[in-house]
Amino acid sequence: MFIEFNIMTRKQFHFFLSCITTALFISFFSIESAAQKSSLHTIIVDAGHGGADVGARGASSLEKDICLAVALKFGEKLEKEFPELKVLYTRKTDIYPALKERADFANANKGDLFISIHVNAAPKIKHSKFAGYRTVVSYTGKGANRKKHTRKVPKYTVSYSDNPSHGTETYIWAADRADEKEKFVVNDVMSEDIYDSTEYTPDINDPEFKAKALLWTKRYFDKSYLLASLVEESFVNTGRFSRGVKQRNEKGIWVLQATSMPSILVETGFITHREDEDYLNSKKGQEEIAENILEAVRRYRKATEGK
Ligand SMILES: [Zn+2]
Repeated sequence: MFIEFNIMTRKQFHFFLSCITTALFISFFSIESAAQKSSLHTIIVDAGHGGADVGARGASSLEKDICLAVALKFGEKLEKEFPELKVLYTRKTDIYPALKERADFANANKGDLFISIHVNAAPKIKHSKFAGYRTVVSYTGKGANRKKHTRKVPKYTVSYSDNPSHGTETYIWAADRADEKEKFVVNDVMSEDIYDSTEYTPDINDPEFKAKALLWTKRYFDKSYLLASLVEESFVNTGRFSRGVKQRNEKGIWVLQATSMPSILVETGFITHREDEDYLNSKKGQEEIAENILEAVRRYRKATEGK
């Protein structure tokens, strides 16, 4: 979920970049010049949450279960359509790998794409309705001077209704606003030359990790944005309501920044919206969502491999 209050407040992850060393710049640019033609070898499928971390709660279901069901269906479709591809899962059961573990796993396996599956949630809407007056009694003075006062104050009844927010949205890690890649977003995504993503496997425990993470964000922004756009387009083609591609650089989805590959986080619908929740829990819905993301990978593959 995007409005992951419970998760976000719990996980206080912040990345602060104090400096980028000259050495890092040199290594970054030497990698850049060595980049070869893009191709997909390994895709990391990440089912959000799991275990004690249930994610968002709906009326009758939990986010972690939907994430896993969709992730497994998506992975199965990927394996079937691209048998030459290595499809790896951060979890295949109801367990909770820490976000760092997930990123570590993706990096160690030299993933070419990191696709995280989540479910969104929105808080209930509070309504206050005037319900007459009540009498409030107060006293002033002491002893013989003690006086009683009464006054009427309005009374309200409070009720909550479901939040109407629904539909899908796909997140990518926000690029530096000053970065020239920003221009790329408003231009034609498909026509740009895209870098390779496979030749560099970092150690996430490296003390220079934070600096590297910033470079990765910039480096993989174009591809992440491309894939995210294709996912949302695919949802729209199935008749879903798309809230679009969004950039985010807050805690909660830092796993996207911690992966040295194009990475997206798909919010497949709102668990707090009755129709969405039913759809997310239905076999039909899960199949369609898995197919939508598969279609996006299909098109991404074509676009990045120039076929
Ligand atoms: Zn989530």
